Amino acid sequence: MSTRVLVVDDATFMRHMIKNILSEIGCEVVGEAVNGEEACAKYDEIKPDLVTMDLIMPKKGGLDALKDIRETDPNAKIVVISAIDQRQPLMDALKHGAADYVVKPFEKERVQEAINRVIAG
Ligand SMILES: [Mg+2]
Repeated sequence: MSTRVLVVDDATFMRHMIKNILSEIGCEVVGEAVNGEEACAKYDEIKPDLVTMDLIMPKKGGLDALKDIRETDPNAKIVVISAIDQRQPLMDALKHGAADYVVKPFEKERVQEAINRVIAG
């Protein structure tokens, strides 16, 4: 069965790129969110197997969304995909249970490796 993924990023082109990268490794994108609020709501609604999470987004950022999702579901698998100038938030995300992170701009193989590793547990 394919891994069901929720893709969270405020940039449309980035969500599109991540969706294509995930579909190449057989993942099914079952939802998208443009900010942390929407991410939390859709996580509860969809219960995806995995989330890709941007950090810098309007309304509610990815770190707060990650904390809230992991609080309601301590087993939530969240891969952070964010820009390199956000080093401290990346470290905070790992501290709060992010499964892995990928720095933008990324090579698609790096994303696929991280996702496959997290899926494999
Ligand atoms: Mg962003």
